[in-house]
Amino acid sequence: MADYGFDTLQIHAGARPDPATGARQTPIYQTTAYVFRDAEHAAALFNLQEVGYIYSRLTNPTVSVLQERIATLEGGAGAVCCSSGHAAQIMALFPLMGPGLNVVVSTRLYGGSITQFSQTIKRFGWSAKFVDTDDLDAVKAAIDDNTRAVFCESIANPGGYISDLDALAKIASDAGLPLIVDNTSATPFLCRPIDHGATLVVHSMTKYLTGNGTVTGGVVVDSGTFDWSASDKFPSLSAPEPAYHGLKFHETFGPLAFTFHGIAIGLRDLGMTLNPQAAHYTLMGIETLSLRMERHVANAEKIAAWLEGHEAVAGVTYAGLESSPYKDRVTRICPKGAGGLFTVRLKGGYDACVKFVDSLEIFSHVANLGDTRSLVIHSASTTHRQLSEEQQIAAGAAPDVVRLSIGIEDADDLIRDLDQALKA
Ligand SMILES: *Cc1c(COP(=O)(O)O)cnc(C)c1O
Repeated sequence: MADYGFDTLQIHAGARPDPATGARQTPIYQTTAYVFRDAEHAAALFNLQEVGYIYSRLTNPTVSVLQERIATLEGGAGAVCCSSGHAAQIMALFPLMGPGLNVVVSTRLYGGSITQFSQTIKRFGWSAKFVDTDDLDAVKAAIDDNTRAVFCESIANPGGYISDLDALAKIASDAGLPLIVDNTSATPFLCRPIDHGATLVVHSMTKYLTGNGTVTGGVVVDSGTFDWSASDKFPSLSAPEPAYHGLKFHETFGPLAFTFHGIAIGLRDLGMTLNPQAAHYTLMGIETLSLRMERHVANAEKIAAWLEGHEAVAGVTYAGLESSPYKDRVTRICPKGAGGLFTVRLKGGYDACVKFVDSLEIFSHVANLGDTRSLVIHSASTTHRQLSEEQQIAAGAAPDVVRLSIGIEDADDLIRDLDQALKA
């Protein structure tokens, strides 16, 4: 199936007519447990000697189709779905980290990720070292003996920044570490981080993959290419795993080691499972991913260019604009476009931003992005509120900045709405 085009794979990968009924659409297997054929079958499943279904905290047929679909679209060996994008980030780090260990992360991240990494992971004894990933020497210098991964976003939320994935993958690889890329804002239609050297890809499926603001979900995709046994840094994967009666995941499952560990240990013990109903909605969304992303990009390009020429606007940070310092990276990393997300700086500062957001009619003021509907948020007073002003500025969410998530409506209607709100 892997040699079909993206438009074909987004509809068919992972799915086959239901073996019991012939149902063409993937059924929602709304069940907690699965009947074992006999005691021997049950034992083989629990020993991971046979692949099958035991209990829906671990695996579910509807969720499995979604996992295979996303792994295929990302060019990965396997994927594990989970209950949110933030769950996916913990699930990605969990097999790699331990008390005293750290991850080197980009300063340009979704606000919630900055809080998760700078505060909450400390409860596990993990830590994050934040660096400007455009300063490659700083990235190298931040990596120490206790570092277990490098983490960045492909197209960074709140928008306008593209990570140099090839350069970061090389630094990580030279240090014997995996590069983890949050590909939420780009989606595999615009960018495939694994093609640029990423080891793991995480998504908030809440955003463009589902695409219509109905689901909270996440996924971790494994490239299957990292050699977990090349050093003693990743004992959960390379050495006998005490949490699974001494099973050696890398030796046993090869390129699927990370995926099996994510299910057999991660979902089993952390329990951040995606439910089958949510998987169904996300599968529906992915069927039209390429069509939506093309329109998101076309609208964003048109609207960003229009806003850049507006008298009330001090600047627009869309990487798809000729004026963007990241224009070259668009050509190299996401040639089909820089996504549908960008920020606008208003000359009137904080107060003008608040008035602007309140005056918009088509755009909804919500803490979400990647919806078919156009959305707006003033990050400094909402998603990035927990951060210091310095962190806000580093993350592209300064007080005079508004983030737009451009939907797939009629671009001229969106421009008219923005114009009346800017005049207000
Ligand atoms: C929304 C988002 C997340 C968190 O995802 P949830 O599904 O809300 O947990 C992580 N990274 C990025 C880039 C996001 O946009």
